[in-house]
Amino acid sequence: MESPATQNVLIVGVGGQGVLLASDILGTVCLGRGYQVKKSEVHGMAKRGGVVYSHVRYGTQVLSPTIEPGTSDVLLAFEPAEALRWSKYVKPTGTVIVNTQKRIPPAACQDRRPDALTRYPRGIEQALRSQIEDVRRFDAETLAFELGDLRMCNTVLLGALSRVCEFSAEEWLAAIEKSVKPRTAELNRRAFLAGRSVEFPCAEEPQAEELVFEKREAARDEAPFIEIRQNWCKGCEICVRVCPQNCLVMNGSKLAEVAKAETCIRCMLCEWLCPDLAVSVH
Ligand code: SF4
Ligand code: SF4
Repeated sequence: MESPATQNVLIVGVGGQGVLLASDILGTVCLGRGYQVKKSEVHGMAKRGGVVYSHVRYGTQVLSPTIEPGTSDVLLAFEPAEALRWSKYVKPTGTVIVNTQKRIPPAACQDRRPDALTRYPRGIEQALRSQIEDVRRFDAETLAFELGDLRMCNTVLLGALSRVCEFSAEEWLAAIEKSVKPRTAELNRRAFLAGRSVEFPCAEEPQAEELVFEKREAARDEAPFIEIRQNWCKGCEICVRVCPQNCLVMNGSKLAEVAKAETCIRCMLCEWLCPDLAVSVH
């Protein structure tokens, strides 16, 4: 029979955000404690920006790898709309930890006019709070950026997760060191500790779309500067395909590059939709 104290942690996000590495690290922490661990996850979205999830169940005896709706102790969401999509899996007395930075899917921004609003869901925070007791929101992406690498967002989120799990910081840090490349170990360590030290509730941030309009207004008279970090680009072509002004192309090395910055209207689609955070529009 399955142990009654089995813990369920659901980790969700979109392709490229590092959901699977985060769940592997959690699994390593649990195994280090001597628990049985079972996981069930979706792979293959890293080039498509699609939904990625990982069910992690651990305890003294775990029989099934999947979490039933209404039974997850924790939902760790790398993206707000994904938090909403998966919220029905969480116990009303459970915890949701959510990164506030949005990844707006292509289907939600089919109106490509510069001032068009997206069809991204609104009222996410209220909807989560109406279903679940403990909702912890914070901007993990900016925290990772301030540490020097946006891609550390998944480790920052693990730091926040560590506050609601039974394992010590040392157990987490040992698992992180085992799981990441040695050259990124120190940065991951700092990212974990930064996430672990976040106090909730955090100050409210403006919504992404408000920031976009402010950014456009402030930069109205300046030529746009589109920054593509080619060492992060994996050549999925999403940015090239969504750009309404054909500003971007794929080069001979199958990486995105800027062809016509002067026609850019700062719609931000390329920045929002890049699954690897490789694009910034200034
Ligand atoms: S380069 Fe990016 S921000 Fe500029 S128009 Fe194209 S998609 Fe929009
Ligand atoms: S920069 Fe463009 S092609 Fe490269 S990963 Fe991002 S969306 Fe894909």
